[in-house]
Amino acid sequence: MISRNDLVIVVVDDMPLACEAACLLLENIGYLDVRGAHSASHALALLAERPADVVLTDWNMPEMDGLELTRQIRQMDEDINHYTSIIMVTANENLESMLLAFQHGIDDYMTKPLRQQELAARLHAAGRIASLQNRLIETTQTLNVHNKELRELATTDPLTGLGNRRYLQTHLDAILAETMARGGAACLALIDLDHFKVINDTHGHGVGDEVLVAFAKRLHRAARPTDTVARMGGEEFAVIMHYPKMSRANTEAFERILHDISQYPIKTTAGDIFLTASVGVGCYVGGEALPAPDELINCADIKLYQAKAQGRNRVVF
Ligand code: GH3
Ligand code: MG
Ligand code: MG
Repeated sequence: MISRNDLVIVVVDDMPLACEAACLLLENIGYLDVRGAHSASHALALLAERPADVVLTDWNMPEMDGLELTRQIRQMDEDINHYTSIIMVTANENLESMLLAFQHGIDDYMTKPLRQQELAARLHAAGRIASLQNRLIETTQTLNVHNKELRELATTDPLTGLGNRRYLQTHLDAILAETMARGGAACLALIDLDHFKVINDTHGHGVGDEVLVAFAKRLHRAARPTDTVARMGGEEFAVIMHYPKMSRANTEAFERILHDISQYPIKTTAGDIFLTASVGVGCYVGGEALPAPDELINCADIKLYQAKAQGRNRVVF
């Protein structure tokens, strides 16, 4: 909570005497940080220099009136994630103008002449509004940062740093919709390491993890920057690719990856380990009925099963 003396106040009145009188009243109450402005634009300049908790503004002023000043303060606050409590001070005592002022976003309304005790009470409430609103803004900002972190955690595979199955599904949704709209082909490749269990059984789970991390890096390097690479779970990975034409989609890229994998061993703390993988690819051609993402995953899965059955270390398209 802002203590009484800490409240930052700006007083706006085009009549210098009225402005000074209001400042004096506030100082008498005990407020130490009070700045006076003789026009709305002067007030905006003061607020740009240093935001205030409370602005006490006159309504009728030449050039820019209190309502327009309120609008501009709200706009300014939005840009800097701040809330200024605004009290309108005026000689217009009718209910209609009061309603108008509140509709323009003021927080409170006082009529001239200002009396010290009433001013003290209103300032107390205005300070509380500013404090609560600013704490709410701060909390919301912190929550937004945490939410972003959580979203990233929820879609990242902690071992390899690749996106996880959830990440892949979100991207698959988007790429399928885009392919439907823009044409071309979207292909999903499921890549499963061959006889991975043997590596775990022979060298231990830790070395198995090293292989998964190294394989993830290789796959990520081999993919194009626009491809989506993910770890589906265990020793199964996925790549989503978009091709401008179906005729451009082929097994070549995967055969190259498989060749690279089987040719060059993965370096681990247990020495070099040779590895092969099997790949199943499912494709959706734009213009055809939009499949559910799971349909494409199932299709790639069936092809992967075929690649395993046909002897592993191959691509089935
Ligand atoms: P296949 O050629 O038919 O795919 O045989 P495979 O041995 O690769 O497949 P299988 O599904 O029989 O075994 C996969 C193994 O992967 C079993 C499981 O313990 C292991 N595994 C799953 N997740 C991890 C992990 O995060 N780290 C390690 N080290 N092993 C894992
Ligand atoms: Mg396997
Ligand atoms: Mg598997």
